[in-house]
Amino acid sequence: MENIIILGTGCAGFTAGIYTARANLRPLILEGKQPGGQLTTTSEVENFPGFPEGVDGFSLMDQLRKQATKFGARVENAYVDRVEFHQDKKVLFAGEKRFEAHSVIIATGAAPRLLGIPGEQEMYGGKGVTTCATCDGAFYRGMEVVVVGGGDSACEEALFLTRFCKKVTLVHRRDELRASQIMAKRTLEHEKIQPIWNSSVEEILADEEGKARAIRIKNLKSEEQSEVACKGVFIAIGHIPNTKPFQGIIPLDENGYLIPEEKSMVKTSIPGIYVAGDCADHVFRQAITAAGMGCQAAIEAERWLAEKK
Ligand code: NAP
Repeated sequence: MENIIILGTGCAGFTAGIYTARANLRPLILEGKQPGGQLTTTSEVENFPGFPEGVDGFSLMDQLRKQATKFGARVENAYVDRVEFHQDKKVLFAGEKRFEAHSVIIATGAAPRLLGIPGEQEMYGGKGVTTCATCDGAFYRGMEVVVVGGGDSACEEALFLTRFCKKVTLVHRRDELRASQIMAKRTLEHEKIQPIWNSSVEEILADEEGKARAIRIKNLKSEEQSEVACKGVFIAIGHIPNTKPFQGIIPLDENGYLIPEEKSMVKTSIPGIYVAGDCADHVFRQAITAAGMGCQAAIEAERWLAEKK
């Protein structure tokens, strides 16, 4: 039986791997469908401490992987689709494979919800379509951009983008924002933000280099279609946490995020099971906060395993 299995190879998973490996626990890290996690889809990370010149997401994750394996962490490709968590034994199933461990850190991340429209996949990550203003906003300095969505995330993205962009058009499918009042007020009062209501984005249109040049929108009341010129399309229609295998086993909130125990960010109600990163955090969702949670989860797991022995 493994001492500890870490699910996920994003910032949270690898940081937990570094800490538990340095504690001589020989962690097994299981890599899911997106090796390296969400950061691997970001061209450049400018806000991870220690990289004044920025670092591309793929390289950063590669460095974290090397750091974890250098200390003895093992990485195996296995997408866990079912779990059985008992007091003394945690069993994980990945298709035909079966794993057993004393302790588990769940760091399975979240995937941004996408629109599923023509042009979106083709221009995602570097060609004008993105889901993270904090990561990519600065690349659109002086340009016109669009944010899609009407929740707190969309407002936050739109407000953040006003720091760099000439104009931010907020396209929402209804005629009022879902966001909290304060965020909605701040957004709608901002001189650089222009809302377009009752509209769905039907297509993202490319220029001759294959980069975004405009979106085609449809007014849902009049059915009229029009184009909005933009160099960047920021999709902020929510995230889907990767927590399906834990449904009914660990408490989830109404959006599917894992709920840690009260007064703890990383402990769950099941002894030996910890959570870290975007699968349990819908508020910060940053690489550095995920890494921080990975560290916390690792230290908690290490203490729990030591007490158990
Ligand atoms: P959200 O509240 O679920 O809002 C998603 C928005 O996207 C909604 O306006 C929704 O439209 C729209 N949408 C969903 N699917 C769509 C589709 N297929 N096409 C077009 N529009 C679509 O998600 P969120 O904004 O990411 O927030 C998630 C949670 O985190 C919330 O509890 C939020 O309060 C919290 N959060 C808080 C902060 C903060 O406090 N600073 C910041 C970010 C997030 P409808 O309105 O029509 O449903």
